[in-house]
Amino acid sequence: MIGNLFRKISGGEKASGKPAGKSDPKPKQGGKSSNRGPNAAKKSGGKDQHPHGGKRHHQRKRRTPDAPKKVWTLDEFKVAPREGETRFHDLDLPLELMHGIADLGFEYCSPIQAQSLPHTLNGHDMVGKAQTGTGKTAAFLLSIIDDLMKNPIEGERFAGEARALIIAPTRELVIQIADDAKALTKYTDLQTHTLVGGMDYGKQQKRLQDAFVDILVATPGRLLDFCGNRDVYLDQVEVMVIDEADRMLDMGFIPQVKRIIRQTPKKTHRQTLLFSATFTDDVLGLAEQWTDDPRRIEIAPKSVATDTVTQHVYLSSTEEKYTLLYNILKQDDVESLIVFANRRDECRRLHEKLERHGISAGLLSGEIAQNRRVKTLEGFKTGKLKVLVATDVAGRGIHIDGISHVVNYTLPEEPEDYVHRIGRTGRAGKTGTSISFACEDDAFRLMPIQELVGNGLKCVQPPLELLDATPAMGPRKPRSNEDRPRSGGGGGRGRSGRHSSRDSRPRR
Ligand code: AMP
Repeated sequence: MIGNLFRKISGGEKASGKPAGKSDPKPKQGGKSSNRGPNAAKKSGGKDQHPHGGKRHHQRKRRTPDAPKKVWTLDEFKVAPREGETRFHDLDLPLELMHGIADLGFEYCSPIQAQSLPHTLNGHDMVGKAQTGTGKTAAFLLSIIDDLMKNPIEGERFAGEARALIIAPTRELVIQIADDAKALTKYTDLQTHTLVGGMDYGKQQKRLQDAFVDILVATPGRLLDFCGNRDVYLDQVEVMVIDEADRMLDMGFIPQVKRIIRQTPKKTHRQTLLFSATFTDDVLGLAEQWTDDPRRIEIAPKSVATDTVTQHVYLSSTEEKYTLLYNILKQDDVESLIVFANRRDECRRLHEKLERHGISAGLLSGEIAQNRRVKTLEGFKTGKLKVLVATDVAGRGIHIDGISHVVNYTLPEEPEDYVHRIGRTGRAGKTGTSISFACEDDAFRLMPIQELVGNGLKCVQPPLELLDATPAMGPRKPRSNEDRPRSGGGGGRGRSGRHSSRDSRPRR
């Protein structure tokens, strides 16, 4: 059966079937020249049979990249050196990669790129605190692409054997990362694969059989399905990226991520890059477990675009908050609004109240299954839903322009989350309004926010009309299964019992 799975990708003799042996990649030594070992192991190992029992394919002749009409040179990508800035030209990246960068219009490294690339390009592990919008995706992709291009595999390879693995918590994020990877590898022959739930398994599987896997971008649940079915192998992974680690935690993915990491080479034998928007103790604990002598980099969130977002802070009692929100929603200028609360249960209750008041609202929090969140975001984007109720971590997945209002129902625990929340509005040249409620329970969080934002955020009494009594609520709506919180640490998608645990996976 495995012979079928390891379909021939390209020309070459059939494997001769010598005894299998597990290869242990050569340890990296913190320097680029040491290379992450799989290549070395493959070149010297002389194994003819896949360590998992499948057949080895001889390395196909690599596809010639879609050749540009004339040879592209750096003369077509001139960027003047600038004090305090790093150019991509200064990083000794392969020409084909520079061509991709030039097409994307990147000239100077963003702070996360400038700070991380000198380390990651040399093979070091990294733990980075950076939010979406900082250029963190390109930061890790550039390092991966540089590595894969400079250390091509000259021997044989197996179908489904990933060289670089990127895991991210949501389907949208995976697709976004893969799109960026495809754009950056446009002039190389590196192949990017995406494995996400909610999309045709067979198609993803077929592609794995037809093209080598240089860069694999996946959500944890779907990746484990592919590993369990022996469609993907992780034991030759040279570079691993864990993106949005805090969101993985929030969504209960850590047990799955642990199972994934156990299938990759040990941490001294792979390069590991971990990103998180926040450095909680939990995140730092995971970073400690999964990375080897990492460089730690922290990037402050982008400063607030105060010129495009008008910020208000209303003093209120805890009881008044819902009334305030309801009346804000009834104002004419509110086209679309995101309301943030700190806890999932708060979000759930708030969402229910809004629905009972006949307001079209969607809920985005860690307890909502991923396919449901995708639908909710779609509904919000198309205007079917006027309001989104979100926690911080779930709210980070929102990349929608044209949101008119943001309400902080509870002030965030991390001041940086305030910046991130209000940054959901006032985008793409439009103006926006943020309204924060400060009650007796959370007013103490205001000062660190004021320090961060630095523009004298003033706390005022809300206008009286916002305290008008709300109408009576409609009856409670029975919750559909889709709306029910997910149980335990389960992943984003339901998986069949056959694959629900490692022990029950088919063995060969
Ligand atoms: P990210 O934080 O990875 O979501 O990236 C945010 C946006 O910044 C994306 O649209 C990238 O294409 C863009 N970007 C990343 N790096 C650079 C750069 N060095 N110069 C200009 N734009 C960039």
